[in-house]
Amino acid sequence: MVKYKITINREECIACGLCYSEDPKHFESDDSDISKVVGGETTEDLSEGEFDDEEIENVREIASECPAEIIHVTEE
Ligand code: SF4
Repeated sequence: MVKYKITINREECIACGLCYSEDPKHFESDDSDISKVVGGETTEDLSEGEFDDEEIENVREIASECPAEIIHVTEE
C-alpha cells in the first residue's frame, strides 16, 4: 500500500469534469463544477488530500489527462 497526496490547483481548473467523472472516489465537484479532493482540505485556490489505497497509478493517469495540468500526485 502506498501513501500519497493529491493536490489540485483549483485556481486554474477549467471545470471540464474529467477527473471527477472518471474517478469519483478521489475527485468531486463543488457548486461551480471546480474539482476538489474527496475528503481533503479545500480552499478557493487549492485542494489536497491523502490516501493510502492501491490506486495511485490510476490517479496518476487521471492527473496526466487533466487538460489544465493542475493535478499533482506525490508519494508520501
Ligand atoms: S480534469 Fe483538471 S480541469 Fe478538468 S475538472 Fe479535473 S482538475 Fe479541473
